[in-house]
Amino acid sequence: MKVKFEDFFLLDEELTEEYKILRDSVRKFVNEEVIPIIGEYWERGEFPKHLIEKIAKLGLIGSYMPVEYGGGGFDKLAYGIITRELERGDSGIRSFVSVQTSLVMYPILKFGSEQQKKKYLPKLASGELIGCFGLTEPDAGSDPSSMKTRAYKKGNYWVLRGSKMWITNANLSDIAIIWAKDDDGIIRGFIVERDMGYKSREIKGKISLRASDTGEIILDDVEVPEENRLPFAEGLKPALMCLNQARFGIAWGAVGISQFCLERAINYSKERIMFSNPIASFQITQQKLTDMLTLTQNANLIAYRIAKLELENKLTHYHVSYAKRYNVRAAKIVCDMARSILGANGITLDYHVMRHMANLEAVETYEGTYEIHTLILGEFLTGIEAFRK
Ligand SMILES: Cc1cc2nc3c(=O)[nH]c(=O)nc-3n(C[C@H](O)[C@H](O)[C@H](O)COP(=O)(O)OP(=O)(O)OC[C@H]3O[C@@H](n4cnc5c(N)ncnc54)[C@H](O)[C@@H]3O)c2cc1C
Repeated sequence: MKVKFEDFFLLDEELTEEYKILRDSVRKFVNEEVIPIIGEYWERGEFPKHLIEKIAKLGLIGSYMPVEYGGGGFDKLAYGIITRELERGDSGIRSFVSVQTSLVMYPILKFGSEQQKKKYLPKLASGELIGCFGLTEPDAGSDPSSMKTRAYKKGNYWVLRGSKMWITNANLSDIAIIWAKDDDGIIRGFIVERDMGYKSREIKGKISLRASDTGEIILDDVEVPEENRLPFAEGLKPALMCLNQARFGIAWGAVGISQFCLERAINYSKERIMFSNPIASFQITQQKLTDMLTLTQNANLIAYRIAKLELENKLTHYHVSYAKRYNVRAAKIVCDMARSILGANGITLDYHVMRHMANLEAVETYEGTYEIHTLILGEFLTGIEAFRK
């Protein structure tokens, strides 16, 4: 039997035909429609909006939402495969799908009223509506409980005042899931429509996730009807539950980057001749490739395992923290090694590796930084929370 480096532990053999078709269709889309154009968009600092319709038609938005609300009715293994394949292309494309699915549709599905689900979910799944998720603020990043955005109750509506920072899809968005504290200090979630009056401003000068829309959301006494409050979201936990969904996709997505960079480095090293020999023939190159293989396959094993645990209803947020923390850090190391194997070519957009490497800086920071996931696991190990002194 011939073992391939892409799937060293033959994990794809565990997939049914349905998952394989999904994997192949997303990979084809990424190879044909993302990779050829993404460098230009990244350089211009622009999200390729024209891909939204195609992404929606392929069923990649809301893949694990129920069919009755316009979702794909798939499970989380399918979601993982989708995010892995999309992130082979670019973290910005995967981020778009993660936010729309796990940070906008998921909170409406989980904490919304029936009326809210019917009104928003099908349009979000079809890409007719674009959403964003506003939790982070200029002075509240890793500790969202310190948020300053307020929601004042006035009769049958709420007045939202504050600002949100580093929000993916902010400028593209038609609706925003906004988290704000009420008069009693309780965090509540709201579905705020653009027409209700929130403003957004693009964050410029990013050297990471350049092909993703990142912005600031300004809430200047925005009036939101009571019917737009998520009735079943109270406290910080619902927001953290949303992040946990998205982190699952990031753990899978990082594997896509590692797989892509490993493949690039193997191919390049066999073709590049230096000192009259392919650089693949040098022991130091082979050591790098072997380390890259190990990191990539470990990450892939973890990704499959968290999906299996999810299907068996045994997945905890600790598993997800472990996976997000390890897989993203592994991808960063893999990119770094691939970049060195590609020499000067490695720093160009044409070879894609450095773009991935730069993107991973943001990916390692959002959805809980490396350090925050370290502390979550530290708390798991010791029973002691070390977030604050
Ligand atoms: C491109 C991009 C897109 C994003 N998209 C969204 C989005 O759509 N919605 C949203 O709400 N947010 C989004 N974010 C925000 C992201 O979630 C935050 O950046 C993240 O939570 C970290 O917050 P911070 O940047 O304020 O860093 P800080 O919290 O200020 O942390 C700075 C450093 O201090 C470390 N640190 C903090 N606390 C501790 C501690 N207790 N112990 C040890 N080290 C600690 C951190 O690990 C980090 O290294 C996005 C960010 C980026 C870069």
